[in-house]
Parts: sequence; structure tokens; C-alpha cells
Amino acid sequence: MYSYFSRLPRPFFNLIRRFCTFDEDHISQWTSTGRHNIRVKNLILIGGSTAIVVAGAWGLYFLTKHNTVFVAINLATVLSSIVAICLASRNRLRAAAIIIAHVLLLAVITSCILKAPTPGFPRSGHLNLLPLIAGTFLIFIKEKPYLRVGLPLLGVLAFVAFSTNSIPVPAGLSLPSDAGSIGMWVNNITGLGGTCAVVAVMHSSLSARRALESDMWQALARGEFHLAYQPQVNESGRIFGVEALLRWNHPTRGPISPQEFIPLAEETGMIIPIGEWVLRTACAQLAEWAKVPHKAHLTIAVNVSALQFRQPDFVQQVKQIVSLSGINPSRLELELTESAVAEDSDNVVKKMQALKRHGITWSLDDFGTGYSSLSSLKRLPLDKLKIDQSFVRDLLTDERNIAIVDTIIQLSGNLGLKVIAEGVETEEHLQVLSKAGCKSYQGYLFSRPLPISALDELIGVSSPSQRAEKAGRRHVA
Ligand code: C2E
Ligand code: CA
Ligand code: CA
Repeated sequence: MYSYFSRLPRPFFNLIRRFCTFDEDHISQWTSTGRHNIRVKNLILIGGSTAIVVAGAWGLYFLTKHNTVFVAINLATVLSSIVAICLASRNRLRAAAIIIAHVLLLAVITSCILKAPTPGFPRSGHLNLLPLIAGTFLIFIKEKPYLRVGLPLLGVLAFVAFSTNSIPVPAGLSLPSDAGSIGMWVNNITGLGGTCAVVAVMHSSLSARRALESDMWQALARGEFHLAYQPQVNESGRIFGVEALLRWNHPTRGPISPQEFIPLAEETGMIIPIGEWVLRTACAQLAEWAKVPHKAHLTIAVNVSALQFRQPDFVQQVKQIVSLSGINPSRLELELTESAVAEDSDNVVKKMQALKRHGITWSLDDFGTGYSSLSSLKRLPLDKLKIDQSFVRDLLTDERNIAIVDTIIQLSGNLGLKVIAEGVETEEHLQVLSKAGCKSYQGYLFSRPLPISALDELIGVSSPSQRAEKAGRRHVA
């Protein structure tokens, strides 16, 4: 599909690609986008199947009455709902949502225009607009004004207009009177039931989030979190430090990677107590290593989230944890991403300087993917840049990445900063990086993140080649 569309003129190509966006990657309960997409999918599936049943039944009824206009409206509704359900089940949610919202709104409005209210049976079709108004508002809440405001507003205006019975019915098209009572009942049930369904979908999504949140609080209390340590090596293959990476062993879901739960932890603010636990655990580990001569030189890099860093007492907290653990502060490295240092520059610099004066070092994570300016690089008291793994991953397939990596390495040299490449997976990556002047590496080529017992064993092995053999990977030297 991609290659076919890519031959179209650029604006058309972009339009179609955006319309058909594959949202599969974002169907996860752990992020707000993921939860929104689950809600959208459920609403499309519920709305679509209800429309197929109800419009299908009406279509058959009007077929027996030879009313071709209503047969056509109901047939179009059934077919579009089938298309929308198929698209939604393949996670093409945006396209499915746009189709079903337009078709159902138009079908309800047209039916209301064509069905004349009678003294015994006032108009009831407009009740179906209620779930449509609520549904379209929820589905398109992150979209542009036409979808977010325009469609629900159209529904509201139509609902108000049809409630007053003021719209004249085109002659000859009104509904045969024997369907009046059944029609009224069906519309009451679908209108009320549909509104309840929208509320239920909203409620289930909120409860799912609350359940995950409470799982995370319990995880902290029950000790379900642990740290994995990924070795960082120098050019001769010697391990000089590790990065501490958080892991969650959920009692029923099993191991969960931080990429899944950290977004929710950041959304809910839980990253603050979790981050504090990570710091305490890493410092306790450094204190253990300090007692063992061949491990005393090791450093631990700890990821600090933007929210955690922005806490007014962050500096105080880190100083306290470091002094209580009794470690040499220069063994602790804190990793910040570019987004964490993007705002409020003066305050950021002050906080970083305060901890740097204490002996702690700073590293800028995922460098090259954010928006740091050269002047902010000059202002921040950094010690190290971490070349983001996306540049390393495509080093061999995209020449431009070699140029980017070269530039980062030269820039860090000129600014007096150390540099480390992460995501080093192959011998070829290593060769290109080493030729460009990079001297520190982290990645699966050397070792995956390991539990502390496996890491201790790896460090206990004497030479780099033995270590690499033990880790099942090739060594650098
Ligand atoms: P990050 O800080 O960029 O960490 C590096 C990630 O790359 C880790 O994923 C690591 O397992 C993975 N990785 C390392 N070498 C390779 C490689 O050669 N190939 C590939 N494909 N991947 C490699 P992980 O452990 O899933 O962590 C993901 C992210 O979660 C981290 O990215 C970090 O942003 C966040 N994170 C992890 N632990 C913590 C924590 O304690 N606090 C905070 N705030 N964030 C954390
Ligand atoms: Ca990191
Ligand atoms: Ca990184």
C-alpha cells in the first residue's frame, strides 16, 4: 500500500496516509494515547454492531413496504458500519472513526427529516443523536476543530431542531404509520442504550487506569520492582560502569519493561517515589561494591525523569540519599534527557551545579533526538553525552547517521565532554563508532541488562575476552 500511495502527489499521499494511520503501536493501557485508542476502538465496535443490527432490521422492514429511500439509507448505514468495524479491528482507528461518525450522523439526520411526527407518535429518531454527540466528542477529542467541535455541534443543533418538530417533511416520503409505535420503542432503546454504552466505555477506561495505578503503588510496597544493570565498556572492553534500568515483575502479568509503565508513572506522578527508590537502590549497590576492591571503581548511571528533576527538593533528596549511603558521589552519574533540561534554564543549571559541586556527574541521554541548542550545551554543567541508539541502529544503512555521529563525537570533544554510544549491537557498529573516535560503548554486543547476580558473575570473570564469552558476546579489544 505504501509504495502505491507514494507515487501519488505529495499532499494527496500525506492526506491518505494520515487518514489510514495504523494505530496498532498505541493500543496499550499504559499510555494516555493507548487508552484513548482502546476507548475509540470499543466505541466504534459497539456503535458499528448496533447500527448493523438496527439498520439491517429497518432495511428489511422497508423492503417489504417498497420504500426505496429508507432501504437505501439503511443499506448504506449497514455497509459503512461493516467497513468501519473491519478497519477498527485492524487498528485503523482514525479512518474507521471518521467513516462511522459521518455515516451515522447523516443517516439519523436524514431519517429524522423524512419521518413525519404524528399526534400519537411524536418524533423519536433524534434520540439516537445523544450517543452520537457524546461518542463523537470523545472519539475526536484530540483532533482538529472540524472533527472535535464541528461534528458534535452538528449533532446538538440537529437534536434541538428535531425536538421542536419544526422541520417540514418532504411530501410522499414520510414513514408508514404502522411502524410508528415500534419505531418509537426502537429509538428510545437505542438512544438510551447507546448513551449508557458511551458512559460505560468511559468508565471502564477510567477504572483500568485506576487499577494499573494501584498495581504500581502495591508494586512499590511489595518490592516487585528491581534494577537490571547494563554494562558500559571502554575501548579495551573493560567494564567501567553500568546503567541502572528499572524492571517490574508483576505477580500476574509477569515482567513488564519500563517502556510500558514509565509513561503512566510519569502521567500519575508515581515516577517521583519510584525514582527515589531507584536512586536509593543504586546507591546501596554502589556502597556494596565500594567494599570489594575490584568493583570499587564502577559507576552507576541512573535515569532521572523530567518530573522528578523538577521537584523543588530534588537536590536535597539526592544529597541526602548519597550521604546516607556513604558512597563516593563521583561514582553516581545522573542521566537527564533533552526534554528535562529544555525549560526554565536558569533553575536547571542551578540544580545541576549544586549536585555537581557535591561530586555527582551529569550525562545527557538520547542526545540528538530532542531540542537542545548549542548554547544550552555550553550553559549546562554536563560531563557526558550519550549518542542515542536510533543513530547507532541505522549507522550502516544511512550515511547521514555516520555524519551525525561524527559531529556529536567532535562536538563533545571540543566542549570537553565525554561521549558514549548506546545501542551498540554489532561488530560493524563498533568499528564505525571506534573509527569516528568514540571510546565508550553500551549495547547488546557486550551485554544485555542483567540482574545483579549475573552482573557480579560477569565482573568477577578476569579478562575482557572471558567476560565476552561468559556474556555470550564478542569483546572489544
Ligand atoms: P534509556 O535510558 O535510553 O535506556 C536504554 C534502553 O535501551 C534500555 O531499555 C535498554 O535495555 C535498551 N538497550 C540497551 N542496549 C541495547 C541494544 O543494543 N539494542 C537495543 N535495541 N536496545 C538496547 P529499557 O530497559 O526497556 O528502558 C527503556 C527506557 O525506560 C530507558 O531508556 C529510560 O528512558 C526508561 N527507564 C528505565 N529505567 C528507568 C528509571 O529507573 N527511571 C526512569 N525515569 N526511566 C527509566
Ligand atoms: Ca538512559
Ligand atoms: Ca538512552
